[in-house]
This record gives sequence, C-alpha cells and structure tokens, in this order.
Amino acid sequence: MMPLFDFPGGIHPPEHKAHSSAVPIRLAPLPPQLHVALRQSMGNAARPCVAVGDRVAKGQLIASADGRLSAAVHAPTSGVISAIAPQPFAHPSGLPELAITLDSDGEERWIDRQPLHDWPQRSGAEIRDFLAQMGIVGLGGAVFPSHLKLGVSPLETLVINGAECEPYISCDDRLMRERADAICDGIAVTRHALQARQVLIGIEDNKPQAIAAMQAAAAAHGFSVVAVPTKYPSGGAKQLIRILTGKAIPHGVRSTEHGVQCFNVATVYAIGRAVLHGEPLISRIVTLTGAVDAAANVEALIGTPLDRLLALAQPHRDRKEVVMGGPLMGFTLPDLAAGLTKAGNCLLVKSPALFPPRPPAQACIRCGDCASACPVSLQPMDLFWFAKSKNFDKAQQWQLFDCIECGACSYVCPSQIPLVDYYRFAKSEIWAAERDKNAANLARQRHEFRQMRLQRDKAEKAQRLADKAAQAAARQTASHSAAANVATNVAPGADPKQAAIAAAMARAAAQREAAPLPEQHSNGLNDAKQAAIAAAMARAAARKTAADEAKAASGQPPAPPPASSGLDDAKQASIEAAMARAAPRKAAADEAKAASGQPPAPPPSSSGLDDAKQAAIEAAMARAAARKAAADQARANQQPDS
Ligand code: SF4
Ligand code: SF4
Repeated sequence: MMPLFDFPGGIHPPEHKAHSSAVPIRLAPLPPQLHVALRQSMGNAARPCVAVGDRVAKGQLIASADGRLSAAVHAPTSGVISAIAPQPFAHPSGLPELAITLDSDGEERWIDRQPLHDWPQRSGAEIRDFLAQMGIVGLGGAVFPSHLKLGVSPLETLVINGAECEPYISCDDRLMRERADAICDGIAVTRHALQARQVLIGIEDNKPQAIAAMQAAAAAHGFSVVAVPTKYPSGGAKQLIRILTGKAIPHGVRSTEHGVQCFNVATVYAIGRAVLHGEPLISRIVTLTGAVDAAANVEALIGTPLDRLLALAQPHRDRKEVVMGGPLMGFTLPDLAAGLTKAGNCLLVKSPALFPPRPPAQACIRCGDCASACPVSLQPMDLFWFAKSKNFDKAQQWQLFDCIECGACSYVCPSQIPLVDYYRFAKSEIWAAERDKNAANLARQRHEFRQMRLQRDKAEKAQRLADKAAQAAARQTASHSAAANVATNVAPGADPKQAAIAAAMARAAAQREAAPLPEQHSNGLNDAKQAAIAAAMARAAARKTAADEAKAASGQPPAPPPASSGLDDAKQASIEAAMARAAPRKAAADEAKAASGQPPAPPPSSSGLDDAKQAAIEAAMARAAARKAAADQARANQQPDS
C-alpha cells in the first residue's frame, strides 16, 4: 500500500454522479450537419485546408494547427463542406467563432487510417509529431495540445488522472469501467514516449467499478492503480500529483521539473486510438445530466450541435440554462446551436428545482472560510476585493493566476459572493490589456520599421542622383580643359571670338578623335595597287619615250598614238614596246622561213592575255607590220640593189 498525501483546503459537495454513471456509454446518432469550430485548443484557431463544396472522408484533416498551442481539426464524418463561417461557440463570452459546417452523407466513410504499429521502436519525438497531426488535446478540460506534454523525457513518474472530482460528471468513470484495456494501451504509448519509470493511476474512491476495471487491465502493464480520497478538487493536476507523490508543484513551475507529468484518462485513451488505430480525435464521451429524464454518457462526434445532443437526455420542461462542465467549474452556454468541442465533457441542465437561485450576494464578513477551502492556499477575499476595485496589479501580486478557478471558495462563502466570477473577470481584463499592449507594440514596431525603410529609400535615391551629377560634372570639366588648352595656345592679344571658335573646334576635334574613324571612300583600288599602277605607267612612259627617241635618231617618224583598244595607256604602251622589240626578230624569222619555203609561224595560241587584249595586240602588230613594210619599202627605194 503506497502512502498518500493531502493537499490544503478542498470541499465535499454532493456528488450527483449516479444519475449518469448507471448506464453504459451509448453512441450519439449521426447528425445531418456538424459545426466543427476551428478553435479546439487553448491556442490559435486552426487554419482551414478545405473549401466549401469539398467532399471529405471521416478523419480527413480539414484545418491545420496554426501555432504552437493550436490543434489540428479533422472531419468527424464523411460528407460535404457546406460553409466556413462564424458560428455560435461554446464559450462564456458568447462570441461566435469560425467553424466548418459539414453536411454528413451518412456513409461514415473513413480515410485510409495509418496507425503507428511500430510505436515501441519510435522515438518520443516521432510519437509527438504523430499526435500533433492527429489533433490530440487534453480532454480533462484544459485542451492543452498533448504532444507538447511529451517533450521532456525520461521522467520519474507518469500520473494518470482518473479522479473526476467534480459533481455530476461521470464520463471518465464510464470510460474506465468500459474501456480500461484501451486506456492502458494509450498509457503504454505515453509512457514509452516519456520514458517514465513508473505509472500511477489515481482514481477517487467513489468509483469502485472503475478502480476494479483499471486494476485488472493495468496488471499486465505493471501500472499502479491508486484509490485516492474523494475530495474536491483532487482532480486538479497539481493536487493529484501531490496526493500520489507528495510533491508540491509551485506556481510557474512545470511538474516535469519535478520529474512528473500528468494526463487525463480520456486523453490517453485518445492517444491509444490515434497511435494503434490511426484515428484522429473526432469524438469524445459527454455526460448528459442534471434536470433531465435520461441522464447518460454518450460518445458524440465533435461538432454535433449541442441542442441535438441534449435532446438525447430529455431535459425537463422547467430547465433554465445549460452549463458546459460541472456546477463548480463549468460555464453557462450562451447558445445551444454551437457544435460540441473537444473540451465538452458534460452538459448539465439546470432547473430551479435542482439548482435554486443563488441568494443575492452580501458583503464580505471576513470569515475566512474561503481561504480555508482554497486548495492553492490563496486569500480569496483579498483577491475578490482587488478584482472588484479593478486593482489588477495588486491582484496579480496576490497570485491571482495561481487560482485554478475550482470554485471551492464560492461554494463555502456564507455571503454568497460569486468569487470565481470576479477572478475570471480580473483575468480576462488583464489578458485583454496584455493583448492590447502587445498589439500596440507590434503596431509601433511596424511603424518604426516603415519609417526606417522610407528614410533608407530616400537616402539611396539622393545618392544615385549625386553620383549622376558628379559624372556629368567630370565630363564637362574634361571638355572645358580641352578648350582651355586651345585657348592657352592662342597668341596673346588674339580676338576672344577667334579664341572661342578655336576652343569649339578643338572640342569638336577631340570628339572626332574619340569617335570611330569613318569608312574611307576610294575608287575601288587600294593605295598599294594605285602605287603599283602609277609605277608601271611611269616605266612604260619611260620606255616609250626611249623608243621614240631611238626611232627619231634613226630617221623614222615617231609611232602614232594607238587607237583606243580598251586597254589602258600603261598596258598599251608596254605592249607596243614589246611588239616593237619583237617585230625585227619576227621579220627575220619570216624571211628565213620564206627562204626555206615554210609558211610563216602562226601566232601563239596564248600569250597570257585575254581575247580582247589578244585582238588589240594583233591589231597593233598588224599596224606595226604595215609601218615596217612601208619603211622597208622606203629604204629600198632610197638604197641601190647590192
Ligand atoms: S468566505 Fe465570503 S464572506 Fe467569508 S471571507 Fe471569504 S469572501 Fe468574505
Ligand atoms: S477558485 Fe481560486 S481562490 Fe477560490 S478556492 Fe479555488 S483556487 Fe482558491
């Protein structure tokens, strides 16, 4: 028998659990339409990943977690997304929340479920990631993302909370009675992820059947089931840890720093369903109780409209309001059209007969009963005063946020002061002020950043303009200095206008020099060819002159200028000089051949000249031959026959 410890304060209100715990859990009928709120945890609302008109399967992801404390949301059944819009929400503020409305098709068609069968070989980090994808949150009321509680390992002790201390609520009791094996499977996975040395399952001793069922199931795993005294609020995590381990966890300190982590039995059951069966968190057990004829625990899909759920319990006609949660920690539902959330463990119907109106609050008489009942050892009457006077700084100094809102102080207050309502009001005001402050800081940071960006852009633009101006000035300076050089070369006393003209001409010359040379025009011959032609013509002219002089010396008339033969003068002169030299040789050869009786030799077939040239040469040769024959005849006439 392990030793148990006690926590300060606490109360023993009537339990009223037998109404609902007497019958087995039943499955709530599938509603035709579900309103699945996107805010299913204590963090941000999830971001929808489906659109209106999409057909989805049961268990399909329809909204992704948005931030560390956010939780993924899955389709509770198969059907069609008919709306993504604000809907009534199960929250004391009564403010609507964005929700996905799903029209069920009645087929309950699952996605392809993929369990983590090899979880014993998986690391804690892998199991954490898997549970985050499955949207598992704490089902004891806090809806804290469960995977975040698996971050510290190894641990000394894993505490499983089956105390369920609040009156009227019996969903955990029925779960432990009926599904103890599945709970222990989930505990085994959780223990593996945390590498916890021991597991302690705490159950209030007013649930003997649940204790027996859990003991039977836990034996195979080596878990310890511990019956703890029935005292409210032993179901608080810190209170149960203290009862089972004797460790008092101070405010602001995580229990893991003391080697302990605590999970609710419904949460570990959901972990087991996710890891071993691949089922995301899409349903939960809900207690329907209070002023109803058919109190029960039902397993309902998340998003089931609360009024449809409540109708299963047949509420009394004199019902007044419906509370989500128990009579001590619950809150009045503003609108029963809201869909069931993961936090919804109980719907408690209040009636005047069952819950007589609370007498008007009286002044505090400083009796101190509230302080005696407080499980956290606070001074509730002082907190009440600070909250009422809106002295929130003082309330925080007096550890307002240590208050777990258990309601024990309100329950015992003889002046009927709704103390917890004051604490909730003070907390919400402080949170709102903190949000406003953060928003203002964010807006200020954005403004400062924008100002900085504008100034930077302005400076960069000014720098660009300055660079351009400097470049233009440098070019102008270079031009002026060239003109100045010209001006300095102008003789002293020269006309200023002339000097300016000279400077302009110098700048233009400089620009021409800088510009690429234009293409030179020519008559089609380059300089080398032109020079070669000129040289050839000069040589030909010299030879012609020499020939003419020789002829003049021999008494022959100078050769007449050749008729235009299409050849240029240089070539013509060269040809005629060659022919003149060749003519005597040819005449001698012809005479020799004539003397020998041979016909004269034909002209060469080719002399390297083209036909036109050849024709011109032959014509010239003919004229030269005629002139030669005439000359010979003249000489013959002048000389006697030898
Ligand atoms: S129990 Fe009520 S009356 Fe007594 S001290 Fe506390 S607040 Fe005042
Ligand atoms: S509601 Fe807060 S102040 Fe009151 S008993 Fe509970 S913990 Fe203490």
